[in-house]
Amino acid sequence: MSAPLPRTAGPAGTDGPPWCDRCGEPAAAGPHDACGAARQLEPPRFCPDCRRRMKVQVVPTGWTAVCVQHGELRS
Ligand SMILES: [Zn+2]
Ligand SMILES: [Zn+2]
Repeated sequence: MSAPLPRTAGPAGTDGPPWCDRCGEPAAAGPHDACGAARQLEPPRFCPDCRRRMKVQVVPTGWTAVCVQHGELRS
């Protein structure tokens, strides 16, 4: 069996990215309902993996956000 290695561990072994990509707070810190709602409309501001500020560009198809460490996310 070859289970994929987990990514860089988040807080308390939670699954998924450790950081909220909108407010930059720990994803486990609480419900990010407002962030989730805003993220339907807006690009992310923080890299969910490392909390770096991402370089966001709006493009005709939506947006791209670049983390210097983790590369590009796009809508
Ligand atoms: Zn948030
Ligand atoms: Zn990153």
